[in-house]
Formats: sequence, structure tokens, C-alpha cells
Amino acid sequence: MENREKELLRCYGEVKEEIEDAARESGRKSDEVKLVAVSKFHPASDVEILYKAGQKSFGESYIQEALAKSEELADLDLDWHFIGGLQSKKAKFVSGNFSIVHSVDSSKLAGLLNKKALSLGIKQSILLQVNSAGEEQKCGVSEKMLPALVEDVISMEGLELKGFMCLPPFFGDSESSRPYFKRLRELKEETEKRFDIRLPHLSMGMTDDYRAAIEEGATLVRIGTKIFGKRPV
Ligand SMILES: *Cc1c(COP(=O)(O)O)cnc(C)c1O
Repeated sequence: MENREKELLRCYGEVKEEIEDAARESGRKSDEVKLVAVSKFHPASDVEILYKAGQKSFGESYIQEALAKSEELADLDLDWHFIGGLQSKKAKFVSGNFSIVHSVDSSKLAGLLNKKALSLGIKQSILLQVNSAGEEQKCGVSEKMLPALVEDVISMEGLELKGFMCLPPFFGDSESSRPYFKRLRELKEETEKRFDIRLPHLSMGMTDDYRAAIEEGATLVRIGTKIFGKRPV
């Protein structure tokens, strides 16, 4: 086995194990937590190695890179997630090319994804990226604006709202991220009641804090560095 393959499989195995462990310890089933392996800046060959080890879901943040990689690996039955910030002019490249988009944070962006989905005759699954950290953060919809955005999005025929995503403002450790994860879960529950809808997904938790995210109810954890190593930029 090549060194890269050995190293990747070792790290992947550790992450899978820790996810199972965290799920078990918080009284959840391990199949309630899906690992999204964040492959941005890492080559298609890495994705292929993990695919052969059973990993299907991969997350990408940059549209050109994501589409190039998915084209290169078109023969594999992969499940691509778009997790990055999205400019309006690139929205048309997203609908139909990703099983789910984690990072929708405005009606304008939702409208563009909706328009493209309708033209393709599909329903595009999305999550709303919520700023559960208030003033400290710019990305994501604020708690205050969230209900209005939910209302807009659930009226769009080409979109299917599946839940919320958050990106805590400080990357550090589980305990500093935990309050934001807790808050996201509360917001999800409040939204489900208020709109009488079911939101199956909470996308939260990265390399340094996914344990706390799982304890607080994450169904999708987005992990890059701990699997692939440091990104080259
Ligand atoms: C890059 C990225 C990740 C992965 O982060 P790691 O710390 O490398 O695990 C997760 N979520 C988003 C939105 C990202 O951009």
C-alpha cells in the first residue's frame, strides 16, 4: 500500500471510530450521524481511496474545484455536499450538482437555486446557514431574520428545506463551540413547531469540535483536516 493510502485510511478509521463512540456515549445510534468528508484542496485520488473504504459523502467549498473533482470521479456513486460560501453568480452551477447545499443564508440565493432547480425539474435539498453567534459573526442568517427566510424558502417549489448548519465563530475546541451547537438545535426545534415542518438535519461539527456537535444533536459532521491532514493553503 502507498504511504498516502495508509495514512488516509488510518485517519479515516480513527474519525469513524470517534464518531461512533461519541454517538454511543450520548445515547444516539451511530447511523444517526453522517460523516461528510471535507475534501477541499485535496485531490480526487484521495476521494477515491476513501470511497473504496466505504465513504460516499464528500463536502466541497469551491464550485469550480468541486465540479472538476466530481467530473473526474463521475464513475463512482458519490454523494457531494456543497458547504462553502456562495456568490450569486455561481448559484446556477450548484442546483442539480450536489445532493445538498449547507450554506444558504439569504432569500436571494435561495431564489437563484430554486430557479435553477425548477428549470431542471428537480427538488434541490438545502440547509440554512444560521449565525447562532450573534454580532461576532457575519456569515449566515441572523436569528432575527431566520423565520422570514424559512417562510420564503418553504414556499419555493424547487427547494426542500432539510435543516440548519452553523459554523462557530472561533475554531478551537469542543467546549467553546458547544453553546452555538446547543443554540442551533433549539432554533431547529422552535422552527419545526412554528412552521409545523420537520427538519431532519443539523450540520455542525468540524475537526476540532465534532464530539460536542454529536453530543448536541448533529446529524451531519463536516470533517476535513482530521481525515486528510492540513490543507495546502
Ligand atoms: C473547510 C470546512 C470544514 C472542514 O474543516 P476542518 O476543520 O478541516 O475539519 C467544515 N465546514 C466548512 C463550512 C468548511 O469550510
